[in-house]
Amino acid sequence: MSAEPPPPFNVPASATTVKISVIDSTVSLPGAPCSILWSPTIKGFDRLKAGTWCFLIEHPSGRKLIYDLGCRKDWENLPPAVNLKQNIPADALAYFRVEKNVAEILTEGGVDLHDIEGVIWSHFHFDHTGDVSTTVQEMDFSESDLRLGRFEAIDYFGDRSFYILNSPGHAVGHINALARTHASPSPGFIHLCGDTVHHAGEMRPTPFQPLPDSIEPSPVPRWYATTCPGHIFEPLLRNGSKSEHILESIDYAAGLDIERKFAGIYDDVALKESVCKTEELDADDDVFTIMAHDWSLKGVIPEWPESLNKWRERRWEQETRWKFLEDFQGACSPQPDS
Ligand SMILES: [Zn+2]
Repeated sequence: MSAEPPPPFNVPASATTVKISVIDSTVSLPGAPCSILWSPTIKGFDRLKAGTWCFLIEHPSGRKLIYDLGCRKDWENLPPAVNLKQNIPADALAYFRVEKNVAEILTEGGVDLHDIEGVIWSHFHFDHTGDVSTTVQEMDFSESDLRLGRFEAIDYFGDRSFYILNSPGHAVGHINALARTHASPSPGFIHLCGDTVHHAGEMRPTPFQPLPDSIEPSPVPRWYATTCPGHIFEPLLRNGSKSEHILESIDYAAGLDIERKFAGIYDDVALKESVCKTEELDADDDVFTIMAHDWSLKGVIPEWPESLNKWRERRWEQETRWKFLEDFQGACSPQPDS
């Protein structure tokens, strides 16, 4: 099946890049039931096995930003509205762990926290906001005419090296970000999509990235050492289509005794729109998309203090694009090539 080209996102040219690094915030979320996040249910895909990625963005001028902070270590002291004992299923909370605040991780690595000019929260949920007391500044997209793809965008540094993208739906005020890693005329970007998408099965396959006939590297090396036939995943395809994403996000607050304020008024219509926009950027060859909770990347991409800037040269995007399918092997079985 041939891929349709994604719509161009027409990002303006720039010679300025930022350095971007990914930090494991030491949050461990191995118990959340998949059934509160996604439909359909998939055999063997029962519990979310993930942590929370955070990102250090360093501008050549010396200015530094953090995108997301994981969860604060003393999560028992979160305010009552985000009381985890009230809002998270007890069997999931039993496995919830936070080893360190991101501030500790950075300090231990030699970063002076005074050098960080701002923290960008993808959204206000407890597993992203960390432990920070500061003045919150709202991003006002109505003051910018800039569009990247179909996203409303703000050029943070004013030199086209780092953009904030408006992506509401998962929570009120959710924002993605786009960091330029490669200068024009061969631009490259890392796209941080926060919780707009929690699992790559929510944004792949699409008409722009249909399920391939053969997948390399194999997402199930115990069955296929190097190249895996795509057809073994056909039992997962929605409507039998190789160009529809496998999972659909559902209202995570619907089945829980949860405060709607905590849920941030999940907006299904806005989320579907933001997911479509995210899929379009994800399919662009110049873009490597990273979700906040995508633990299929763990051990494949290098973590801070290494940078992610050589993602294109090291082929991390190609290596990880279909790796998420490993989570669904309980619903598939090895078969001879057809
Ligand atoms: Zn999250």
